Formats: sequence, structure tokens, C-alpha cells
Amino acid sequence: MTALEPHTPAAPDPTHPRVSPLDTAQDQLSSAVRLLGYDEGLHRMLATPRREMHVAVPLRRDDGSIELLAGYRVQHNISRGPGKGGLRYAPGVDIDEVRALAMWMTWKCAVADLPYGGAKGGVAIDPRGYSQAELERVTRRYTSELMPLIGPGQDIMAPDVGTTEQTMSWVMDTYSVNTGFTTPAVVTGKPLAVGGSLGRATATSRGVVHAAEAALAEAGTGLPEVTCAVQGFGKVGSHAARFLADGGARVVAVSDENGGVQAAEGLDMAALQRHVAETGTVVGFAQADPIAGDELLALDVDVLVPAAVENVLDADTATRVKARWVVEGANGPTTSEGDRVLAERGITVVPDILANAGGVVVSYFEWVQANQAYWWTEAEIAEKLAHRMRTAYQAVATRARADGISLRDAALVIGVSRVAEAHQLRGLYP
Ligand code: GLU
Repeated sequence: MTALEPHTPAAPDPTHPRVSPLDTAQDQLSSAVRLLGYDEGLHRMLATPRREMHVAVPLRRDDGSIELLAGYRVQHNISRGPGKGGLRYAPGVDIDEVRALAMWMTWKCAVADLPYGGAKGGVAIDPRGYSQAELERVTRRYTSELMPLIGPGQDIMAPDVGTTEQTMSWVMDTYSVNTGFTTPAVVTGKPLAVGGSLGRATATSRGVVHAAEAALAEAGTGLPEVTCAVQGFGKVGSHAARFLADGGARVVAVSDENGGVQAAEGLDMAALQRHVAETGTVVGFAQADPIAGDELLALDVDVLVPAAVENVLDADTATRVKARWVVEGANGPTTSEGDRVLAERGITVVPDILANAGGVVVSYFEWVQANQAYWWTEAEIAEKLAHRMRTAYQAVATRARADGISLRDAALVIGVSRVAEAHQLRGLYP
């Protein structure tokens, strides 16, 4: 099979059907459109990506063989500004996943009131099976293919699952070499030395914690009062777990793709981070007991933070959640059915497009700084991020209360209506 053949999902399991993230994203949009009373034409406009690019990414492996990878970039909407969103390297990436992630970026940027549309990119590759030199070649070729579509005023990439600061540095360099001048604002999430921003690497996690604190405060409680479990220990989950613990929460369990660990008295975050730095996984951490990834979702904790990938809370797993709050660090961790089950069970979900917006908020700060070639201090970034997250949370919570709807629907209604307003003010051309 060549990598360009359509991605084949895992064999269907009738007891556990695979939900497409695009179905989840479209269901969410339909729900917002219903609440907003939009007509079919506007609905279709909002449901359909403005532009998509499918690219073949030929890679010369280190052993001299050639592999052909499938790459995508989707600009879901550009009514409020340039496309913005991450670049994902994962084996299962397909066009529908990228479409869903691009749509979520549109609503997320609008909820955070950033002057961006929404976009996403992906390459179907498992980065763990490739050398750094190979990943550099993949990234540079993918970027070259996208040259007509990207730019600081057109579409700005950032890291996502499977990509890093280094990936962004290669994108920036490839774009800059091809245009003839250094253009730091073409990507965000870059290393500091080439125009990155202080605070960007931990921004999504800080935002998750701001969102959790705001949700807890609404119920008259706070981090020192609660226990947490964090699913996913990558760029988002690892820092979120640490910041939750720094804020006084008892983080009793964490997991990554290899498995999980739990300690009822709370995990020693510093020791755990050292263990992960040495071994590459949370598994085997001596000061805790093992726990399966699925069991973590059903732990008796106050706050559950899914911070890995899509579809982890579905109709089945959602029935077993015991947490009172689910704060979505990942994009699309809850399916539509999962969402319905959580709502019926009275569990408050702080939705992804609000809870994990901290990353793109500081991406925006990085882009502003790069555009003006003047950089802010870490304290300035932290303060601006906290302000943005609180403002977004308050707007969403106020709308949810006023309309008697979930935080998810309220965030969608705010995001979708801001995009629709920009679209209508600009008018239809020609
Ligand atoms: N990949 C992150 C997200 O899903 C960040 C996107 C960005 O900063 O553009 O929100």
C-alpha cells in the first residue's frame, strides 16, 4: 500500500463504532446553527472549508528508498483574518480529521476573539519511526508544496500532535529561503532563538488551568479543594498536570499512550517529570501504582482533563466518568454521544475551543511580536494570557446561563456567530 491510498480506519467494531471527528465537528456546528436560527445557506457556508490542499510528500529515507506520504492543509474559514492552526504528524491523519481540526480552530480563534480564521495541516506519518533528518526533509517538502497558500497574512502554522518547535523552525526557514527574507511571523510555536515567544511552549496548559479554575470558581471551589486525573502526558497534559499541582490540586493519576500511574495521595510531579525525562513514559514510575488508560477516565476524581486525542469520551466511556468537571485539553476528545451522556449525568464540560485556546492565544502574541519585531516579557505574556482566558470564559459562562445551554453550545454560539457576523459584514463577492 502506498501512503497516498485513502487512510483505512481500524476494522469496524460494532460494539465500539469509530466516530469521525468531522461528524462530531459538524454535529456541533448544526447545534449552534439551530440555536442561532441560521438558514441553510449560511449553515453550508460555515460547514464548508474555504480551501483545501492535498499534497504528495515524497521522502527519501536515510537508506535511500523513497516513500510517498499524504499531506493536507485545510483553511476552514478566513472571514476574521488569516488561517491559523497547527500541523499534525500522526499515522492516522486523513482529510476528514484535518477538516474537523480546522473547523475547531475557526471557532476557537473566534471565542478567544483573535483576528484569525481557522486552519489545520497534517501529514500521515508516525514521527517516531523517522530520523530527525528525515523529518526535516518531510517538513521542508510539505512546506514547499504549500508555499502558495501560507504566509504571515495568509495562513500561519503552529505545533500540534507529533510536531515540535524544531518542526516550526524548519517551516519558517523553508518559507524564508523561498521568499528571500526571514519571515518569523509565518509560523508560531518557534524556538525563542528564531523569534518564538516566551510562554508559548506552556501556553495551552496554562490556559487549561485558567479554564479549570474559572469553572471551579463558578461552583464556589478552587484547585486546593479538588483531585484531578490527566489523560495524555505530551505538550499539553504534562505541563497541565504540573500547573494543576502547583495551584494546589491533588493530581492523582496521569497516563500516556503506554499506560498510566496513580497515587491516591497525589503524584510527586517533579519526580514524575524526571522519570519521564529518563524513560520517555509515565509507566514504571516507582512512587505510584499502574493504572490502565481507560481506567483513568473512570477514576473517582473531581476534575478529568483529557489532553491527548479525539474520541476518548464516547457513549461508552462517558457513562463511566465519575468526575464532576471535564476540562478538554485535547481537540475533540468528546464525541456527540459522549457529550449527551455527560450532560445527562450532570457533568460540566469545559469545551476544547475554550479550554485549550491558550495555545493559539499565545501564538497570536508571538505573531504580533514577530510582526512588530519587539518582544514582551514572560510576565507580560502570562498576564495577557490570563486576561484573555478569563474574558473568554466569562463570555461563554454568561451566555450559557442566559440561554440555559451547555458551555459547549455557548462557546460554539459565540464562535460561530462572530464568524457569521464578519462574513455578513464583508458581504458576498461578487
Ligand atoms: N495546535 C494548537 C491547537 O490545536 C495550537 C494552534 C495554534 O497555535 O495555531 O490549538
